[in-house]
Amino acid sequence: MGSLENKIAVITGGTSGIGYATALKMAEEGAVVYACARHGRKFETSAVRYHYLDVTDAGSCMNLYEDVMAEQGKIDILVADAGITRDALTKNMTDEAFSDVIDTNLKGVFQIVRLIGPYMETQGHGSIIAVGSVVGEYGNIGQANYAASKAGVIAMCKSWAKEFARKGSQVRVNAIAPGYIMTDMLKTVPEHLLEKFAGMTMLKRLGKPEEIAEVITFLASDAASYITGTVIDVNGGMRL
Ligand code: NDP
Repeated sequence: MGSLENKIAVITGGTSGIGYATALKMAEEGAVVYACARHGRKFETSAVRYHYLDVTDAGSCMNLYEDVMAEQGKIDILVADAGITRDALTKNMTDEAFSDVIDTNLKGVFQIVRLIGPYMETQGHGSIIAVGSVVGEYGNIGQANYAASKAGVIAMCKSWAKEFARKGSQVRVNAIAPGYIMTDMLKTVPEHLLEKFAGMTMLKRLGKPEEIAEVITFLASDAASYITGTVIDVNGGMRL
């Protein structure tokens, strides 16, 4: 029996990279998964279904929430994974690049948790995992916008861990802080920088999406029933 039998999971950004790997892993563990993003994707297992979502659009978040509730009657797990980068040195960073990243990575997480977090509180249980980043903890050259968004995600998770459990509900909220993981997000990063990032880790390599999915799935499961308000680093022992 899988660790997520009878659980309903919603994954923003569930069509690519870390979110996609997490959708497959959660389905393997027995969950019914809604993999959500702006562009569709087919899944080989019927346990994972695509649902349109733009996290920057409050109406789209509401549609997703209402559809899942109408179809399943509950939500046990939310993975807030959707994220983008628009890198530039600060002197070159446009208003648009700053706002796009904040709107998607920070406000996008807020807009979906604003619906599902309070619902879980009423339900009495739930697990929310937001995907932060090593960059949100330590910063990075050319990523002031992204670092700010991810530091904000971590701070929101700690706030929600307190808020949604304040009346005794077993709602857990945790953030995960991956290091550099081989996904589409790294496609624009030059090879020599990827080699540098790999060299900064104890394990001398970049991470795989499946290695993040394992930890997110653990946090979603009842095996993590006493873990809340934390940030889990999964970065191969990156030296900073
Ligand atoms: P990918 O680019 O592979 O996946 C990003 C996902 O987010 C896609 O499914 C994309 O789908 C979705 N997405 C983007 N914008 C929106 C939006 N407005 N509304 C809904 N969905 C959206 O990246 P990763 O898997 O690498 O990244 C996943 C998360 O992990 C991000 O939050 C990222 O910041 C974080 N992270 C990644 C690291 C890495 O090295 N790869 C390291 C640390 C953290 P679509 O475009 O169709 O909407």
